[in-house]
Amino acid sequence: MSKRKGIFTATTAAIALGGAVTVLASPASAAARNGVCESGEFCYYYNSNNQGSVSDFTGSVANYGTEQPSCYDFKGAGNGKGKCIKNEAASVWNRSSKTVRVYYNSNYGGTYQDFKAGAKGNLNSSLKNQNASHQFSPSSRTNMSYGLYKASGGRITCGFDGYTSTPGRHEGIDIARGVGSDVRALVGGKIIYIARGHTGSSGLSTISVYNASLNKTVIYLHSAPRSSLSVGQSVSRGQIIADESWRGVSSSSGAHTHVEMRPGRRTHAAKSVNDPTLDNPNPTSFWHARGYNIR
Ligand SMILES: [Zn+2]
Repeated sequence: MSKRKGIFTATTAAIALGGAVTVLASPASAAARNGVCESGEFCYYYNSNNQGSVSDFTGSVANYGTEQPSCYDFKGAGNGKGKCIKNEAASVWNRSSKTVRVYYNSNYGGTYQDFKAGAKGNLNSSLKNQNASHQFSPSSRTNMSYGLYKASGGRITCGFDGYTSTPGRHEGIDIARGVGSDVRALVGGKIIYIARGHTGSSGLSTISVYNASLNKTVIYLHSAPRSSLSVGQSVSRGQIIADESWRGVSSSSGAHTHVEMRPGRRTHAAKSVNDPTLDNPNPTSFWHARGYNIR
């Protein structure tokens, strides 16, 4: 009797298991974040070579969060399950139909690595365990903080009209990478004014580049103009024009390049510090149209 019951129970269990298997084998929804890397999704893996727990996505995420229970986490079985994904992913599989870009910083900033549709592989040494956001069909724009140097490590230190403790209105965008970094023209044009200046707060330097077809001037402050630079010279986009410095800045630790867009032909930057009037228009659309993100 007990034996018959045991057999009967085992059969019942097998039927139940069969039912469960059928459910799992039905087409899984790519919309669900279920820890399975399905067609249409971009997936992180906790370990290299697509090993360990999976975190699957159907869209971009600018900020993963860093604490449970609200962070984006690894959901699949295996190593890393339940951990927040920020700075913890080692490999990816892009099963979506779009290029996906993995970034070092949140909000799609910093150095990045692209994975084309179908690509599978490890994050490079800059991104492995340093992933902070990802973007489907990333913008083809270059970040200004990269384009100014054509090297990673640059960052915006103060945005347009972004003064928080300085009195006045900030007429440009401050970008910093470090003393001596090559500074490049973000937009081509003709040099209409150079002030070489000197290091320290009284030594403001200026390079003004007028683009006649756009009828805009882009002005660079604080950097050390290259000795070969002269008024009347044409410079092309990406050409090195200066070395980052602290000319017109009180200390070397504050070295940066102030990049200011002005309508028309202007030899000098607008006054920012201690001037309550904002002279320049918001430059966001200008920089976007030139192919730059303000990042
Ligand atoms: Zn500035």
